Amino acid sequence: GDITLREIREHVWEIPKEGDMRVPARVFASESLLEEIAEDKTIQQLRNATHLPGIKKYALCMPDGHQGYGFPVGGVAGIDAEDGCISPGAIGYDINCGIRMVKTNLTYDDLNGREEKLVDALFEAIPSGLGGGGVIEGDHGELDAALERGVEWCVEEGYAVESDQSHCEDNGFRADATPETVPQKAKDRGQNQMGSLGSGNHFLEVQRVADVFDEPIAEAYGLHADQVVILIHCGSRGLGHQLCTEYLREIEKAHSGLLAQLPDRELAAAPAGSQLAEDYYGAMCAAINFAWVNRQLITHRTRSVFEDVFGEPWEDLGMELLYDVAHNIAKKEVHDVDGEPTELYVHRKGATRAFPAGRPEVPDAYRNVGQPVIVPGSMGAGSYVLCGGENSLDVSFGSTAHGAGRLMSRTQAKREFWGEDVQDELRRRKVYVKAQSGATIAEEAPGVYKDVDEVVRVSDELGIARTVVRVEPICNIKG
Ligand code: 5GP
Ligand code: MN
Ligand code: MN
Repeated sequence: GDITLREIREHVWEIPKEGDMRVPARVFASESLLEEIAEDKTIQQLRNATHLPGIKKYALCMPDGHQGYGFPVGGVAGIDAEDGCISPGAIGYDINCGIRMVKTNLTYDDLNGREEKLVDALFEAIPSGLGGGGVIEGDHGELDAALERGVEWCVEEGYAVESDQSHCEDNGFRADATPETVPQKAKDRGQNQMGSLGSGNHFLEVQRVADVFDEPIAEAYGLHADQVVILIHCGSRGLGHQLCTEYLREIEKAHSGLLAQLPDRELAAAPAGSQLAEDYYGAMCAAINFAWVNRQLITHRTRSVFEDVFGEPWEDLGMELLYDVAHNIAKKEVHDVDGEPTELYVHRKGATRAFPAGRPEVPDAYRNVGQPVIVPGSMGAGSYVLCGGENSLDVSFGSTAHGAGRLMSRTQAKREFWGEDVQDELRRRKVYVKAQSGATIAEEAPGVYKDVDEVVRVSDELGIARTVVRVEPICNIKG
């Protein structure tokens, strides 16, 4: 496009403040990533976001950024929680889409020969795909309890143990949730999807630790070479999507004055303190709880699959949670703005919190090292565990990337790749993939994503999140 970016320092590119922009914008990228980011509307969308009332410091784009609904995936905005606004499009439709890593004490050799049995058993046991059906058949009471109390409810019901809760961002539980402001249609959609992956980009992947870059931190995280681990990536299913759709429509109508000040309708925002801002924030927190329950129920089911395949109780298999991180959320957090601690709605859309050692939100187990940050690559490339970096609070409101980030649209992907070919090629490399359809595999082929190694390198070199280990895929199930 015609937006000029100024290089501030290595990996930091700025759109200077001009015209009606309230703040400058910054993109964190190497030259090669920037070239890819500049190919779609990402940079224009980032510039648009600088018009949001109450936005502080910069509108930010992480190194995995690509265009999204109104606001880039990989975007971060810190907006004054008292006299700013909250923008559903800067959070995303799949509220609390996120990712967790479950550890095991198995090594790659322990799996040997059982990969296909394992992938079949996982695919069989874990509900996936577009439609309904979950690990549990929820009723109204269960749905409301999930919306209200998140993983805490799972502990009461025996779907989680206490240590699962303490190894989730926010303890897997947003107390600000108001289930009564979640639209009925959203609840109806969520009720029979409790414990389901969903479609397309969501996955469960069994992996092995391939490289350890930081021994002391890996040890603090309980990770070591050749260990088998599991990644679970999914969100709030139809519930989050329906909620976002309905609130966007209401906010556009009720706050048309604010909307008129914005360069893109898709950035529609509710002014802080308004009834709609309060209702949406409470509903969004409830959807966040729902997504945590979703990932927990899938974890519960995964543990029983491993028990069946390996013939030992999950506790003896060491299937503890490393951490669960959200990557489509807004959260009230206090950050330093011009030397003043200021309460912000930190919007992270396709971006992961990456708090360093010492920050009170980091759970006890990791307080002295920094929080684990999980950055998936693709079903062919590796994925990473990072550690919240010492510069993240200054540079990125304590955030980093959430993945490799897409390079091409799903439509384009289906023109470039053929699902069966991708699956065969992966199998030759001893990666076993099962999906609901060949089209899903094509849409998610490793070639549709950016280079995750490069994304992680930029994050590490900026000191916003430090590389700890790299993992490689073994088995993958997709919606
Ligand atoms: P999103 O939440 O934006 O859909 O995706 C998050 C990231 O997950 C993507 O940017 C991509 O890098 C990564 N990813 C997508 N599919 C897979 C997969 O099958 N396995 C792994 N390890 N990562 C994936
Ligand atoms: Mn999602
Ligand atoms: Mn996601």
